[in-house]
Amino acid sequence: MLSLGTRTCARCRVGKPLNRHHFYRRTRDPLGYQRMCIACTRGDLDRADAARLQARQEARAEALRAYQARAVGGPSSYYPPPPPDDLDDDEVRQEHGQVCLEWLIHRRADCVVAALTEAAWDGAGSPIDALANALFDEPPEEDREDPLYWAWDYLTDLAYLHADRLLEEVPEADRPAVVAILPEWCRPQKSAPETPASG
Ligand SMILES: [Zn+2]
Repeated sequence: MLSLGTRTCARCRVGKPLNRHHFYRRTRDPLGYQRMCIACTRGDLDRADAARLQARQEARAEALRAYQARAVGGPSSYYPPPPPDDLDDDEVRQEHGQVCLEWLIHRRADCVVAALTEAAWDGAGSPIDALANALFDEPPEEDREDPLYWAWDYLTDLAYLHADRLLEEVPEADRPAVVAILPEWCRPQKSAPETPASG
Protein backbone atom coordinates (compact mmCIF):
# COMPACT_ATOMS: atom_id res chain seq x y z
CA MET A 1 0.00 0.00 0.00
CA LEU A 2 1.28 3.40 -0.93
CA SER A 3 2.29 5.31 2.18
CA LEU A 4 1.22 8.93 2.23
CA GLY A 5 2.77 9.64 5.61
CA THR A 6 0.70 11.07 8.45
CA ARG A 7 -1.92 13.80 8.75
CA THR A 8 -2.65 15.84 11.85
CA CYS A 9 -6.40 15.59 12.52
CA ALA A 10 -8.05 19.01 12.36
CA ARG A 11 -10.11 18.17 15.43
CA CYS A 12 -8.05 16.11 17.90
CA ARG A 13 -4.69 17.38 16.66
CA VAL A 14 -3.24 13.85 16.68
CA GLY A 15 -0.99 12.86 13.79
CA LYS A 16 -2.32 9.64 12.26
CA PRO A 17 -1.23 7.52 9.27
CA LEU A 18 -3.02 8.89 6.21
CA ASN A 19 -4.98 5.82 5.14
CA ARG A 20 -8.54 4.53 5.08
CA HIS A 21 -8.21 3.06 8.56
CA HIS A 22 -7.79 6.51 10.07
CA PHE A 23 -9.43 8.92 7.60
CA TYR A 24 -12.55 8.82 5.43
CA ARG A 25 -12.03 9.43 1.73
CA ARG A 26 -12.57 12.84 0.22
CA THR A 27 -12.05 13.16 -3.50
CA ARG A 28 -11.57 16.92 -3.46
CA ASP A 29 -8.64 16.67 -1.04
CA PRO A 30 -5.24 16.69 -2.83
CA LEU A 31 -4.29 13.51 -0.96
CA GLY A 32 -7.77 12.00 -1.09
CA TYR A 33 -8.70 12.02 2.60
CA GLN A 34 -10.73 14.16 4.96
CA ARG A 35 -9.09 16.66 7.32
CA MET A 36 -10.72 15.09 10.39
CA CYS A 37 -9.86 11.57 11.55
CA ILE A 38 -12.49 8.82 11.54
CA ALA A 39 -12.80 8.79 15.34
CA CYS A 40 -13.54 12.52 15.44
CA THR A 41 -15.94 12.38 12.45
CA ARG A 42 -17.92 9.58 14.11
CA GLY A 43 -17.91 11.50 17.37
CA ASP A 44 -19.39 14.52 15.61
CA LEU A 45 -22.04 12.38 13.92
CA ASP A 46 -22.88 10.65 17.21
CA ARG A 47 -23.20 14.00 18.96
CA ALA A 48 -25.45 15.34 16.21
CA ASP A 49 -27.59 12.18 16.43
CA ALA A 50 -27.74 12.47 20.21
CA ALA A 51 -28.70 16.14 19.97
CA ARG A 52 -31.48 15.36 17.47
CA LEU A 53 -32.72 12.49 19.64
CA GLN A 54 -32.70 14.67 22.74
CA ALA A 55 -34.57 17.46 20.91
CA ARG A 56 -37.21 14.94 19.83
CA GLN A 57 -37.52 13.55 23.36
CA GLU A 58 -37.77 17.03 24.86
CA ALA A 59 -40.47 18.01 22.36
CA ARG A 60 -42.43 14.85 23.23
CA ALA A 61 -42.00 15.45 26.98
CA GLU A 62 -43.15 19.05 26.59
CA ALA A 63 -46.20 17.99 24.60
CA LEU A 64 -47.01 15.40 27.26
CA ARG A 65 -46.60 17.96 30.06
CA ALA A 66 -48.93 20.37 28.27
CA TYR A 67 -51.46 17.59 27.66
CA GLN A 68 -51.35 16.49 31.31
CA ALA A 69 -51.63 20.07 32.57
CA ARG A 70 -54.77 20.50 30.42
CA ALA A 71 -56.14 17.11 31.43
CA VAL A 72 -55.56 17.44 35.17
CA GLY A 73 -55.76 21.22 35.58
CA GLY A 74 -59.37 21.28 36.71
CA PRO A 75 -61.35 21.84 39.89
CA SER A 76 -60.64 18.40 41.37
CA SER A 77 -57.03 18.23 40.28
CA TYR A 78 -53.73 18.60 41.97
CA TYR A 79 -52.73 21.26 39.45
CA PRO A 80 -54.60 24.56 39.26
CA PRO A 81 -56.63 25.35 36.15
CA PRO A 82 -54.46 27.03 33.50
CA PRO A 83 -55.42 30.66 32.79
CA PRO A 84 -57.46 31.09 29.59
CA ASP A 85 -56.16 33.34 26.82
CA ASP A 86 -58.93 35.94 26.84
CA LEU A 87 -59.03 37.04 30.48
CA ASP A 88 -60.20 40.49 29.36
CA ASP A 89 -63.57 38.94 28.51
CA ASP A 90 -65.84 39.41 31.57
CA GLU A 91 -67.57 36.08 31.12
CA VAL A 92 -64.34 34.15 30.63
CA ARG A 93 -62.80 35.88 33.64
CA GLN A 94 -65.74 35.07 35.88
CA GLU A 95 -65.80 31.46 34.74
CA HIS A 96 -62.07 31.16 35.36
CA GLY A 97 -62.44 32.65 38.85
CA GLN A 98 -65.16 30.13 39.58
CA VAL A 99 -63.00 27.18 38.44
CA CYS A 100 -60.03 28.52 40.42
CA LEU A 101 -62.17 28.78 43.56
CA GLU A 102 -63.48 25.25 43.03
CA TRP A 103 -59.90 24.07 42.74
CA LEU A 104 -58.81 25.94 45.87
CA ILE A 105 -61.75 24.65 47.92
CA HIS A 106 -61.02 21.13 46.74
CA ARG A 107 -57.36 21.47 47.73
CA ARG A 108 -58.21 22.94 51.14
CA ALA A 109 -61.43 21.14 51.99
CA ASP A 110 -60.47 20.73 55.67
CA CYS A 111 -59.89 24.47 56.01
CA VAL A 112 -63.25 25.19 54.35
CA VAL A 113 -65.15 22.90 56.72
CA ALA A 114 -63.33 24.39 59.74
CA ALA A 115 -64.18 27.92 58.56
CA LEU A 116 -67.87 27.08 58.02
CA THR A 117 -68.06 25.39 61.44
CA GLU A 118 -66.51 28.41 63.09
CA ALA A 119 -68.77 30.79 61.13
CA ALA A 120 -71.83 28.83 62.30
CA TRP A 121 -70.80 28.87 65.95
CA ASP A 122 -69.89 32.56 65.77
CA GLY A 123 -73.17 33.44 64.10
CA ALA A 124 -71.08 35.14 61.41
CA GLY A 125 -72.95 37.72 59.34
CA SER A 126 -71.32 36.40 56.18
CA PRO A 127 -70.04 32.83 55.99
CA ILE A 128 -68.53 33.87 52.65
CA ASP A 129 -66.46 36.46 54.48
CA ALA A 130 -65.47 33.79 57.04
CA LEU A 131 -64.40 31.51 54.20
CA ALA A 132 -62.37 34.28 52.53
CA ASN A 133 -60.59 34.98 55.81
CA ALA A 134 -59.85 31.30 56.34
CA LEU A 135 -58.51 30.74 52.82
CA PHE A 136 -56.51 33.96 52.57
CA ASP A 137 -54.34 35.53 55.25
CA GLU A 138 -54.30 38.64 53.09
CA PRO A 139 -55.56 39.58 49.63
CA PRO A 140 -53.23 38.14 46.98
CA GLU A 141 -51.32 40.50 44.70
CA GLU A 142 -53.00 41.08 41.35
CA ASP A 143 -51.38 38.46 39.14
CA ARG A 144 -53.29 37.18 36.11
CA GLU A 145 -51.26 33.97 36.08
CA ASP A 146 -52.03 33.18 39.72
CA PRO A 147 -55.08 30.95 40.29
CA LEU A 148 -55.21 32.12 43.92
CA TYR A 149 -55.72 35.67 42.72
CA TRP A 150 -58.73 34.66 40.59
CA ALA A 151 -60.15 32.48 43.37
CA TRP A 152 -59.91 35.50 45.66
CA ASP A 153 -61.42 37.75 43.00
CA TYR A 154 -64.47 35.50 42.61
CA LEU A 155 -64.88 34.91 46.35
CA THR A 156 -64.85 38.65 47.13
CA ASP A 157 -67.38 39.22 44.30
CA LEU A 158 -69.64 36.72 46.08
CA ALA A 159 -69.12 38.47 49.44
CA TYR A 160 -70.12 41.83 47.93
CA LEU A 161 -73.06 40.27 46.13
CA HIS A 162 -74.25 38.62 49.35
CA ALA A 163 -74.07 41.93 51.26
CA ASP A 164 -75.92 43.76 48.46
CA ARG A 165 -78.67 41.16 48.29
CA LEU A 166 -79.01 41.10 52.08
CA LEU A 167 -79.44 44.88 52.14
CA GLU A 168 -82.13 44.53 49.49
CA GLU A 169 -83.95 41.81 51.39
CA VAL A 170 -84.14 43.33 54.88
CA PRO A 171 -86.61 46.05 55.78
CA GLU A 172 -85.17 49.49 55.27
CA ALA A 173 -85.07 50.10 59.05
CA ASP A 174 -82.74 47.09 59.51
CA ARG A 175 -80.23 48.15 56.89
CA PRO A 176 -77.95 50.00 59.33
CA ALA A 177 -77.74 46.76 61.34
CA VAL A 178 -76.61 44.85 58.25
CA VAL A 179 -74.01 47.51 57.50
CA ALA A 180 -72.80 47.25 61.11
CA ILE A 181 -72.45 43.46 60.81
CA LEU A 182 -70.78 43.54 57.38
CA PRO A 183 -68.90 46.84 57.27
CA GLU A 184 -66.29 45.41 54.94
CA TRP A 185 -68.76 44.30 52.28
CA CYS A 186 -71.47 46.92 52.31
CA ARG A 187 -70.71 49.60 49.78
CA PRO A 188 -72.38 52.78 51.02
CA GLN A 189 -71.36 54.69 47.91
CA LYS A 190 -73.65 52.54 45.78
CA SER A 191 -77.34 53.32 46.05
CA ALA A 192 -78.43 50.48 43.77
CA PRO A 193 -76.86 47.06 44.23
CA GLU A 194 -74.60 46.11 41.40
CA THR A 195 -75.34 42.83 39.71
CA PRO A 196 -72.23 41.11 38.38
CA ALA A 197 -72.09 40.38 34.67
CA SER A 198 -73.34 36.91 33.97
CA GLY A 199 -74.26 35.06 30.84
ZN1 LIG B 1 -9.18 13.24 15.30
